[in-house]
Amino acid sequence: MKTVVFDIDGVLADWSTGFSQWAQSVFPEVPVVTHANCAAWDVRPGMTPEMERVIWSLIKQDARFWRDLPSLATERELRAISELIYQGHRVYFATNRKTPRALAATRDWLEARLHTDAVNVIITHRKGEFCKVVDADYYIDDKSENVDCAIWMTDTKTKSYVITRPYNSVIYAPHSKSARRVSTVLEFVEDINAEI
Ligand SMILES: [Mg+2]
Repeated sequence: MKTVVFDIDGVLADWSTGFSQWAQSVFPEVPVVTHANCAAWDVRPGMTPEMERVIWSLIKQDARFWRDLPSLATERELRAISELIYQGHRVYFATNRKTPRALAATRDWLEARLHTDAVNVIITHRKGEFCKVVDADYYIDDKSENVDCAIWMTDTKTKSYVITRPYNSVIYAPHSKSARRVSTVLEFVEDINAEI
């Protein structure tokens, strides 16, 4: 049995579209930025820091934000992840969502799409450390700094993958030689299945 860690936002869920849609509902001039045209995950076009604070205060009051996020993973990819769970692998979903009720909302989001209630969600921004403490065999994230950290923390034991996104294709290229790049979640799961 293997231990597999999935990051959620930017890998499975389209946080960028969800956030900018909420922003647009309050500030109509804000453009919707999907993960596909998101140049930098931490820069919100058309928004001032104050506007961002307003939207975050709304998200803190309403966990439906997390429940309603669009999926980046395809049906086939979600089925492939469910299969890992059904096969008995230890699958964790690690996220840095820290607003009230984000844990329950994230679990709901995953359960609805993976068609199982055997979903393990952990809220942490220390994903490298998390990979170390659970002895992760595989890990995927869209933030290559996290991937580098996992490789460093686990002394390369965790096979760590960066999923290519517009905002990490050049400037956030993996720093660690052993980091692997994939274009899709399916490639990541197929890599796991090829080795078990
Ligand atoms: Mg992410």
